Amino acid sequence: ATPTAVMVATGKGASQGVLIKGGSALEKAHKVKIVVFDKTGTLTVGKPVVVNTMVFSDMPIQEFCEIAAAAEVNSEHPIAKAVVLHAKKLHQQYGLNSEHITEAEDFEVHPGSGVSGKVGDKMVFVGNKRLMAARNILLGTEVEDYMLESEQLARTCVLVAVDGRVAGALAVTDPVKPEAEQVISFLKSMNITSIMVTGDNWATATAIAKEVGIVKVFAETDPLGKADKIKELQLKGLAVAMVGDGINDSPALVAADVGMAIGAGTDVAIEAADIVLIKSNLEDVITAIDLSRKTLARIR
Ligand code: ADP
Ligand code: MG
Repeated sequence: ATPTAVMVATGKGASQGVLIKGGSALEKAHKVKIVVFDKTGTLTVGKPVVVNTMVFSDMPIQEFCEIAAAAEVNSEHPIAKAVVLHAKKLHQQYGLNSEHITEAEDFEVHPGSGVSGKVGDKMVFVGNKRLMAARNILLGTEVEDYMLESEQLARTCVLVAVDGRVAGALAVTDPVKPEAEQVISFLKSMNITSIMVTGDNWATATAIAKEVGIVKVFAETDPLGKADKIKELQLKGLAVAMVGDGINDSPALVAADVGMAIGAGTDVAIEAADIVLIKSNLEDVITAIDLSRKTLARIR
């Protein structure tokens, strides 16, 4: 496209809340045949809520939730926010007027699997079974049964290990965005295949994919694994777009022919992307591709 055509399209995009960072993204977007969507915060609202808590030890539930929240309080992850909010709600329920959550020391993020830190003299890991496996923390049948039960209900099970043992778990639900299903079906009508890639477990991922009409799912992938999936799809010679919101999506956003970040997402994702969907509305994936198709059609 001519510099003028790019400028006009970029301006038009901006006025519709689609921020296109440069001409090359605009020129590539019309070729897109596959759109890979992250799950949490992209297909889903990204505001998970704790709907169930299970303590597997004799620890009082409030102490359990406090410890989990202390490990999560400095995490940007939407699940972390849900865990912290839940602990604060328990504070209220127990009539405590303080909303203060103690911060864990030596806080560490394990992208795509959870967080860890020291709460008092306790070593705490909060995350999925991959995080536990990496630390050789055994689950046991009681924990596994609870996980299975949660996942079949499309919930994500957050495990909390204290000093090497799973002390309890929190089940969180994150509803899908109201426009998600329509966008997937509209993309299909444009001959574009939608795929889901997520760090979340297979059972939850499959349940969510079904809700929005996505058939192909890659679950339990870490951030670099997400980028590898993009590269695999590109091997077929098809142009691939990636839509994501998290730090964990940034390698995939960079690897994709067109990286699209959700406006409400993390700064790292926004920086890694070629296009930013300011309104965080999935319909703008179509707006972006459409704008590119029209711009390139005009100059031909
Ligand atoms: P997604 O790909 O769906 O956006 P992530 O890659 O961010 O998800 O995380 C993958 C999984 O790792 C989550 O579903 C959750 O089980 C676990 N996880 C990641 N970060 C956290 C956290 N801060 N607290 C608890 N669990 C987490
Ligand atoms: Mg995400």
